[in-house]
Amino acid sequence: MTAPVLVPILGDQLSRSISSLADRTPADTIVLMMEVAEETTYVRHHKAKIALVLSAMRHFAAALREAGWKVDYVTLDDPANTGSFTGEVQRAMARHAPRGVQVTEPGEWRLARIFDKWRKDLGVRVRVLPDTRFVCPLPDFFQWAAARRELRMEWFYRDMRRKTGLLMEGDKPAGGRWNFDPENRGGPESGLTPPAPPRFEPDGLTRDVLDLVSDRFGNHFGTLDNFNWPVTAEEADRAVAAFLSERLPLFGRYQDAMVAGQDSMFHALLSPALNLGLIDPVELCRRAEAEWREGRAPIEAVEGFIRQVIGWREYIRGMYWLDMPGMAEANALDATRPLPDFWWTGETRMRCLSEAVRTTRDNAYAHHIQRLMVLGNFALLAGIRPQEVADWFLAVYADAYQWVELPNVAGMALHADGGRLASKPYAASGAYIDRMSDYCGTCAFKVKVKTGPDACPFNALYWHFLARNEKRLAGNARLFQPYANWRRMGADRQAEYLASAEAFLATLMPAKPGWAREA
Ligand code: FAD
Ligand code: SF4
Repeated sequence: MTAPVLVPILGDQLSRSISSLADRTPADTIVLMMEVAEETTYVRHHKAKIALVLSAMRHFAAALREAGWKVDYVTLDDPANTGSFTGEVQRAMARHAPRGVQVTEPGEWRLARIFDKWRKDLGVRVRVLPDTRFVCPLPDFFQWAAARRELRMEWFYRDMRRKTGLLMEGDKPAGGRWNFDPENRGGPESGLTPPAPPRFEPDGLTRDVLDLVSDRFGNHFGTLDNFNWPVTAEEADRAVAAFLSERLPLFGRYQDAMVAGQDSMFHALLSPALNLGLIDPVELCRRAEAEWREGRAPIEAVEGFIRQVIGWREYIRGMYWLDMPGMAEANALDATRPLPDFWWTGETRMRCLSEAVRTTRDNAYAHHIQRLMVLGNFALLAGIRPQEVADWFLAVYADAYQWVELPNVAGMALHADGGRLASKPYAASGAYIDRMSDYCGTCAFKVKVKTGPDACPFNALYWHFLARNEKRLAGNARLFQPYANWRRMGADRQAEYLASAEAFLATLMPAKPGWAREA
């Protein structure tokens, strides 16, 4: 009998179409799945994120076994578990004496370096295959980037539309336009009640995992009380169907709106399942397109959604691999303030921020505008160190993997990449949050007051941010107007804004060490 090939499958590679299995047969393959401590604690993930990944892994292993594959599964509480991928692959090699190792490339830079070491150290042939679950292979992205001075998402997105044929009429965009964003700016309307997301009752496997996580990771951020993520491809399919029929039609219109207590609005809630591999992104977009073609959803909603998936998601991944490892250290605006304590405790009088931290703690989820225009905007204006912000975002969300989290934090939210990803910083005063949310009416601060102890802190922080970055940002054509306004303001008013911002910043308590990483 020939020796088998060992196929390690990582926690975010839970797709039946994964490239590492594509040319294998069950007869001479051992699938290796490993729950390792290193991955659960390199940042101290939200309890629900750990539970989601472990439960989805256990369900995936069961489905593979049912389909006839031999799966060697190492649980977290196995006393022999070494706690690292390399240790577990070495132990599995001793058990199975494989003739080779075959694996799909990982989603993170850190793991790619570990795979490089396997090639040198394991003593058998190690094949690392491309991850084919994305529309744009990485070499194509690098080629696209090499041919351009400015790497704008919109141009990349159009190429992805042409490549997939999604929302295309021949070589023209369906509906006559590539982008329907101007129609997608609806603010919150009173009485808006988005449909509740579907329920996924935990089965026995999930209940075991929830017990394990609460025993072992009880001191991590977040709660398991509301755990409701799909953990199998079948459940993810049900989540997709519910989104398409119940929330997609209004997804575009209320994409940027925030309403207290409405944690998901009309968003898809599909990123955790997409990033685990339980949903195929192109198939998801084809189903969304059918909703428009068959008259059930308007083009602005469907185009807006497809742009997020084959535009932003793919572009973000490409930028991650293009700019790593430098992206992890980037700090173009020299932001050095420590992360405030309230990002973990939620204890702040700023209603928008307390609400964003609350939904994050309760659900391991906050929607895009809460992440970008409340949390990200605050971190940008207050000048918080990008690496601390990135650790927080990586730790707290169920969908967080560095390939997608870091470019969003360092590039989109914090401009720490010097503008490679976004042509101008997403900086906004309280007026934006007031327009797009119902938070300000019940906030201890007053959004219309510009300076002083009662003023919305975003107002003075906005000018403080522009003033302290004037040398770096004043040349940006898209910031011409704000800088013109700043200069017109006069020295006394400027000084009032700066003093007000400084007084607020002095009240921020740095987070205690140990929340995101072991102290
Ligand atoms: P919807 O709003 O319904 O969007 C549909 C899908 O589009 C999402 O499921 C997601 O797969 C994709 N998408 C939309 N925007 C982006 C984007 N900017 N980047 C990548 N994919 C996108 N997304 C993650 O998956 N993991 C992260 O760790 C993550 N961290 C973020 C950090 C910051 C600071 C910001 C501003 C955004 C971050 N995002 C991240 C992107 C986005 O906020 C989430 O994908 C989205 O909120 C997920 O919820 P949803 O499925 O309801 O998305
Ligand atoms: Fe946030 Fe300012 Fe509105 Fe309060 S007033 S909710 S701090 S934007």
